[in-house]
Amino acid sequence: MRDFIVIGGGATGVGVAVDAASRGYRVLLLEQDDFGKGTSSRSTKLVHGGVRYLEQGNISLVMEALKERGLLRQNAPHLVSDLAFVVPSYAWWEAPFYGIGLKLYQALSGKYGFGKSQLLSKKQTLQHLPNIETEGLRGGVMYYDGQFDDTRLLINMVATAAEQGATLLNYAKVTSLTRNKQGWVDGVVATDLESGKTLRAKAKVVTNATGAFCDSVRQFAEPQAKPMIAPSQGAHLVFDRSFLPGDTAIMVPHTSDGRVMFAIPWHGHTLVGTTDTPIQKPSLEPVPMEQEIEFILSTAALYLHKKPTRADILSAFAGIRPLVKSGDGANTAALSRDHTIHIDQSGLLTITGGKWTTYRNMAEDCVNQAATLAHLDEKPCVTRDLPIHGSLRKTARLGSLAVYGADATKIQRLIETDRALAAPLHPALPYCGAEVVWAVREEMARTVEDVLARRTRALFLNARAAIEMAPRVAELMARELKCDLAWQQREVARFEDVANGYCV
Ligand SMILES: Cc1cc2nc3c(=O)[nH]c(=O)nc-3n(C[C@H](O)[C@H](O)[C@H](O)COP(=O)(O)OP(=O)(O)OC[C@H]3O[C@@H](n4cnc5c(N)ncnc54)[C@H](O)[C@@H]3O)c2cc1C
Repeated sequence: MRDFIVIGGGATGVGVAVDAASRGYRVLLLEQDDFGKGTSSRSTKLVHGGVRYLEQGNISLVMEALKERGLLRQNAPHLVSDLAFVVPSYAWWEAPFYGIGLKLYQALSGKYGFGKSQLLSKKQTLQHLPNIETEGLRGGVMYYDGQFDDTRLLINMVATAAEQGATLLNYAKVTSLTRNKQGWVDGVVATDLESGKTLRAKAKVVTNATGAFCDSVRQFAEPQAKPMIAPSQGAHLVFDRSFLPGDTAIMVPHTSDGRVMFAIPWHGHTLVGTTDTPIQKPSLEPVPMEQEIEFILSTAALYLHKKPTRADILSAFAGIRPLVKSGDGANTAALSRDHTIHIDQSGLLTITGGKWTTYRNMAEDCVNQAATLAHLDEKPCVTRDLPIHGSLRKTARLGSLAVYGADATKIQRLIETDRALAAPLHPALPYCGAEVVWAVREEMARTVEDVLARRTRALFLNARAAIEMAPRVAELMARELKCDLAWQQREVARFEDVANGYCV
């Protein structure tokens, strides 16, 4: 019998699989769609301590996240990089106020620091942010945080977990839980969505890491289980680079709805977000609401000289925060205010909340709890110093393949064997055919959407370009997967359907 079954292939579930497998436990992970289909592909792409928590006085949470930020840069240097942020100041009090706060932020990171914060004059602010709104501008405060590519990291974490001995399946949807004679959850029933076959597996502990969907999985075991999640949607808009030329991001600490908003350079584009809108029910493919699009455009217009309009939007995407309701009963063990581990009467262990940045720490807590719950042999956590698959420090010479880290040379070798694979898939984006072949052969990509949304980031960068790339991607995939023309046509149509939700 396996030690762990993990349900959910986002940052939380795959993080748990990496942790448990690297301790030597036997692990099976099941994801209903593709790895990262949920919230984990839809983040703001920041590896950060959370300046907002600092304002709320939650120092320990910030310190924990800043430490995780440092560990992530150490273990996945090909995917996590330092990013300079400027908080522009338009009122006299802003520079000293945010200056002090951001000095504290820097100090809290201790040996895991990313760079020194400093006050900027108006001229210096303009040098870093040539498109900042100059009317009333006094200067700014510069500080450093981390940036990453969320699903490239996730796909590399899937590989890491597999290398540590875990089995991970995408397109395997858990439909019910099984219980032993004592009523304890001891396994899952799942459907292989490609073949339609039923899969059954048993384990000493079943971990529910299904993010915003975790209540529906809890209700498989206990239909009356009280919901613990209050889902909230956040949206982002993507524009071309001209709105944020250079390598510096903008952080707006207080929007009119009291939130933090970012404009960041990402893969040669400008990513702006996010919002926070309570919703009734989570969906796997959320679409930005009209009010979210308007809010991001109007907030960006306050801070940018060349103002983005609807016509400039290249992609719009939304994600769902699994916010945990407070006071959910005596057996909710809030290990930090940021993530929650909950054990139901049936022994089903749910881990949710938190953020991408802290996935490793969340996984460590989760596996410790699960091992105690299931009376597993005690094994120490080793992920603090465990390199993530592809880990490589110097990637500059790899050009657009840098995000693949150590795998980049293998993709270059694919090109050497078939020069046609070097051809760009679209003039607006830096992706080539070899990446499609690589994604199918080595990264478990099964659909055109897997390749265009999560192995490459085409859909998130430029939805219309991604739609135009789809037929060629389908053709390359069909060759690898030995699929016919009808499959290609179905895949292209299915992708267009999804991608239309990213077009505004
Ligand atoms: C708008 C927004 C911006 C954010 N920005 C940042 C940021 O910049 N930095 C940061 O650190 N954090 C950020 N976060 C937080 C971070 O993205 C999330 O905390 C994290 O991605 C949650 O991961 P997860 O694995 O818990 O959930 P998910 O990624 O949603 O994964 C859950 C998975 O479970 C699967 N699943 C559901 N039901 C089943 C079933 N029955 N069987 C099998 N599988 C199932 C789903 O398909 C899904 O893939 C942001 C969040 C949002 C919403």
